[in-house]
Amino acid sequence: MNLPKIINIQKYSIHDGNGIRTTIFFKGCPLSCLWCHNPESQNYSEELMYNEEKCTGCMACIDSCPQRAISKEEKCVVTDKIKCDLCKECIDYCVNNAREIVGKEYTVAQLVKEAEKDRMFYEESSGGITLSGGEVMTQNMDYIEELLKKLKKKGYNIAIDTCGQAPYENYNRILKYVDTFLYDIKLMDNEKHIKYIGKSNNLILENLKKLSEAGANINIRIPLVEGVNADDESIEELIKFLKNNINVHKINLLPYHNTGKSKYERLQKVYEGVNFEAPSKERMETVKGKFEKAGFINIKIGG
Ligand code: SF4
Ligand code: SF4
Repeated sequence: MNLPKIINIQKYSIHDGNGIRTTIFFKGCPLSCLWCHNPESQNYSEELMYNEEKCTGCMACIDSCPQRAISKEEKCVVTDKIKCDLCKECIDYCVNNAREIVGKEYTVAQLVKEAEKDRMFYEESSGGITLSGGEVMTQNMDYIEELLKKLKKKGYNIAIDTCGQAPYENYNRILKYVDTFLYDIKLMDNEKHIKYIGKSNNLILENLKKLSEAGANINIRIPLVEGVNADDESIEELIKFLKNNINVHKINLLPYHNTGKSKYERLQKVYEGVNFEAPSKERMETVKGKFEKAGFINIKIGG
């Protein structure tokens, strides 16, 4: 079976659903939000990350590279991404752990075993397992279905964090194993959606409606970025859509943050979110008030 790549397995997670959870982050996403704080999750393949802050400039990696892809630059090193074939040789030579390959393959049995280690915490806190990303619903669905089936058989509470950009048949396949969908929506204005997110919102909104009609338990997550979607018009459009179409269980309003900025440098990628800002605390409260006034309950600022 074609194994998806995992970026991280985060233990004791408290922002990805109820209680204490283990969150498994899958690599690869069909969207490209300009403010994405997990750029290592966008590409479906393995990637090399280099952390300049950890690099002491010892140059041990340069000689280790069979492709001669690494060269010296002042106190640090740079990697020619075209020459690098991700052979991983340099990783072992770097005693400072400044170099790493992101994206590790796990079999279903290995992931289930990882999840089982924290069973006690899930039981004590009404927590469970969250599959996140990247985008879970665009991975190998035979693998995802088998994983969910095994986790559910063990009685775990399952949440799926999704951006909605995947064929609905993928959701339909796994609906019966999922307790909660953490469903991200950003903008109703399709032109703005294409500009900031890289794709139309049609499929995302259609899938959300279908999941709601199918009786799924839906927590809506809205990242809010000043100058993009935190204005009155954008919020009112979102409220109208949700009110008319979706049976919402909970809403999380997530203020923008740029904590992923350094990861772009480590991947030798350009961060296009430099000019974005979080809405003020007052603005976040105002937005929350608008949802409350529209009759929504269970609204939280933050994860
Ligand atoms: S081996 Fe590690 S610490 Fe040494 S130069 Fe290479 S990246 Fe930097
Ligand atoms: S992963 Fe291999 S090819 Fe790429 S920089 Fe390291 S040693 Fe060179």
